[in-house]
Parts: sequence; structure tokens; C-alpha cells
Amino acid sequence: MSHYLHNFAEARKVVLPCLYLPPGMSQAAKPRKKKADDGESFAHKLSRSMMRVNPHLLPSVERAVDKACRNLKMSRSHVHAFVTPELEGISAVCYNSCDKPVIVFGPQIIELMSEDELCFVAGHELGHFLLPEAHLHDDDSSEGRIYSRAAELSMDRIGTVACGDPKAACNASMKLMCGLREPHLRTDVAAFLADARESFDGDFHRHEERSTHPPAQIRLWSIVQFSLSDAYLSTQGKTGGTPVGQINLTIGKKMSEHVDGLALKESAESVLMAKAWLYCLCLSHGHDPDLQILNEVGPAVETERLRKAWDSLGGFKDDQLKEHAHKRMTKAAETAFQRAPNLTRQFFTFVSEQSHFAAVRHLISL
Ligand SMILES: [Zn+2]
Repeated sequence: MSHYLHNFAEARKVVLPCLYLPPGMSQAAKPRKKKADDGESFAHKLSRSMMRVNPHLLPSVERAVDKACRNLKMSRSHVHAFVTPELEGISAVCYNSCDKPVIVFGPQIIELMSEDELCFVAGHELGHFLLPEAHLHDDDSSEGRIYSRAAELSMDRIGTVACGDPKAACNASMKLMCGLREPHLRTDVAAFLADARESFDGDFHRHEERSTHPPAQIRLWSIVQFSLSDAYLSTQGKTGGTPVGQINLTIGKKMSEHVDGLALKESAESVLMAKAWLYCLCLSHGHDPDLQILNEVGPAVETERLRKAWDSLGGFKDDQLKEHAHKRMTKAAETAFQRAPNLTRQFFTFVSEQSHFAAVRHLISL
């Protein structure tokens, strides 16, 4: 565990069971290196232009942050919280580069939420700091955005644990979606989910795939699912509930059906093409790779694809064949690194470590 997280050991025990990773794309998670910036001095700098959350000036916000800290087993003195109108829209953020969490609320989100709902928001933001495993791969690629959306679902779980009230967590999601509160909004979870079933009819929409956050309806549905899990119930001192692993599979299926499907397919497709050209590169060097070894990491490539790739090189011989196979493998690997950096890195690291691919290892640069 990175050094700065030692100060949050109790909280880590609470949040680790909340981690949700996209199915089939996970790997042993190692939190990032030690945080670089000093949270105290960063917060001191912010306090010159933003109002610090404290019991005298912002008592309701203080109560929400304090409750989140208590339920997440963090010392309130380790958390810096501010409010500023500079933060536009209905939003809150967590500065993640410091050794202590620094969260900032915009005024609109405070106006919109009850105390427990704001506690959910505070817990969600604190989760971004407490659970770096959720952010290991969320770069700006289609694969990275799949991880990012999964991370948001993990954070909603941490928010739910923080407020100890799944209904408040659901209300917050509905309010974030419409920007309204009672009496205009009736926070009717069943009615909201019924409406969601009509909106999410299996059609894919590109802009959803490009978003780093999942649609509100799926977020709310995922909170309801999590509230039924053994992981959530144990935070409430209760036993029983559905194993969280099983709930993760259900959520993964839903995300894939409604949001991640195309991106998952494209990520896998790019790795499959890299595999096919690696296979051709091996053949051009007189080595016939074992399909089982080729498929030990990443999506399974089928013989038909390998045959087609090899046939397309039919016009070349000897050095020319080697050169063309190498060119196409390099191009395919570049595309795969762009679309699915994590999966591609895993695959090529595996290839570079296997003696089975020794014949072409010198041609692969990671
Ligand atoms: Zn978030």
C-alpha cells in the first residue's frame, strides 16, 4: 500500500469491498505511487479564495461531511472541504493528487441536496481519493472510459456507505439528473426505474460511450443492486445479502448491454488484430505459434482470422514477407495500444516474457 494511504487504513477496509471493475478487464490492482503534493499546504492555498467547510459558517455542509467521515472511518481532521461559486454547474470534485483528500462543492449541489444526500456526494468524492485501484486504467481511450464509468459506480457505492441510506443515494442521483428538488421532484425510485427501462432498450448511443460517467438511470439501478449485497449490509452491522461478486456480474452485464458493448467490442477487436499479425510475423520467421499460448492472455483469436491474415500476405516471400508481416503487426499493435492500452500491454508483456515467442521477441517494442 502506498505510504499516504496508511493514514487511512481503517477507511480502506471499508471501501475496498466497494470496488467494481469491468468484468474480464480487471487485473491485480496496485495503487499508484506515493501522492506527490502536500494536502495541508494545498488546502491552505485554497482557503484564501474558497470558504472552508466548518461548523460555524456552513453547519449543514459540515454535518454532511462529518457524517461521511464517521461512516467511512476517516478522521475529519484529515479531510479538507471547501465551497466555491467558481465550481460551475451541479457539481463537486475531489483533488486527487495530494496525500490528503481535498473536496470542493459548488453551491448548486448544496442547494439541491438534503443533508444525507450531500453526505452521499461527499462520500462519493472521498472515494475517489480512498480507492485509487478504481482509477488505475482510466485514461482517455475507449477502454479507459469503460474503467472510468466503472469507477463512478464504485464511488456511488462508497457514497451509499457514507450516508448509510440507499434511498438518499438514489434521491441524489435523480436530483443530479433533473437539477430539481422537492416539491417539483417526487423521488420515486420505482417510477424512475420504470421510465429507465423504456429509455434503455438495447440501442447504443455513441455519446454515452464517450462519457466518463454512466447514465444516471444505470447509476441509480446499480446503487439499488449494491444495497442488497453482503458487502453493503455488513457495513450496516447486518449479515446475509447477495454476494457482491454476483451483483458485480449482473452490473457488468447491464453495462455491457446498454453502454460499454461497442467499446468492449472495439477494444477486443484491436487486440485480436494485433494477435493475428503477431501470428503472421511468427510464421514468416518459420515459427508456428501454439493457439492456446496465443490465447492465454486477452480475447481468444479464432483460426479463421489467423488464416485470413496469413492469406493476405500470399504475394510475398522471404525477407519481403517478414517485412510486411512486421509492418502490419506494428501498425495493429499501435491501434490496439490506442484503443485498449491496458489489455494490449498485458498481452505484449506476456509475449515478451514467453520463450515460445523468442523468434520474434526482438521485433516487439513495448
Ligand atoms: Zn465521481
